[in-house]
Amino acid sequence: MIPINKPNINLYILTGMGLSLNRFKILSIVLLVCSLSIVSTVSTVPAQLPDEGSDRYEYLGIRHDTRPQVCLFEPNPTHVDWDYWLEVEYESKRAVLDWQLEMTEFLPEGDWSMYTHSTVPYIEHWNKTPDDYRHCTIFLTFEAFNEDPESNALGLTGIDFSKSSHKFTYIVVYLHALEHTNIVLNFDDAKKDPITGLTKFEINLERQQLPLQTVYNIVLHEMGHGLGLGHYESLSPNGYKRSTMTPSLQPFSDQVFDIKIADKFMLGYLYGTDGYQKPQPIWISDHCLFDHGIKVIGCY
Ligand SMILES: [Zn+2]
Repeated sequence: MIPINKPNINLYILTGMGLSLNRFKILSIVLLVCSLSIVSTVSTVPAQLPDEGSDRYEYLGIRHDTRPQVCLFEPNPTHVDWDYWLEVEYESKRAVLDWQLEMTEFLPEGDWSMYTHSTVPYIEHWNKTPDDYRHCTIFLTFEAFNEDPESNALGLTGIDFSKSSHKFTYIVVYLHALEHTNIVLNFDDAKKDPITGLTKFEINLERQQLPLQTVYNIVLHEMGHGLGLGHYESLSPNGYKRSTMTPSLQPFSDQVFDIKIADKFMLGYLYGTDGYQKPQPIWISDHCLFDHGIKVIGCY
């Protein structure tokens, strides 16, 4: 039995987006931001893996009260290779569709369809705000890379369910990362600066395009947040094998995220067996106890 903790709600200013949120009245927005981060080292595997009973699944405390309307926003084409973008777009739509297909198979009585609008070209949206796209309730946006040197997030989801009638979740997916996050300085690469006499190292810090499977993993995960799921916390080093909402991934590995039974239970719990169609309160204030991350023991 694991209690579900309420996530922290932060005031958070998202910057550097094609769709500029900074033209918003920032103070009126409560954005709850979740990020999917890079794991660069594989932790030592304990002799005995912890069982799922110690795992914890969180939710964000919000849900959409109408069928989700997903809008994709093309990234700045001067920063992202065009052919790569077309494949990214395909993988992103596949991830959105997989949430729909998996939930429909799991709870066939429910209506789990989302509407995906045609992709908005960069030239059209670069100087716009979410207010200009009031029909969108899940914004799926892409950036070349995360410009925050303090952050290793590969994706972020922000939520604006504040007083405005336009309630939406806002996803940013970063498409490039450093392949070698653990840098070993090799003396063979050292050069003496002829003027200062200091030894300099040349380190290749080129950002690489993320593999398409990784892009799919990130979009699948962030869409989970976009629908109201929190993180699945597990002591297991392979948490992604239990939930697509595991909070970290290795971007240049062969990890494949997919929607697991725990994710379907949790989304079914948030929206009910009839899916996205019935009007329902958008705030979820109760506190539930889960057994093994999936079975609801009771809500208080
Ligand atoms: Zn996350």
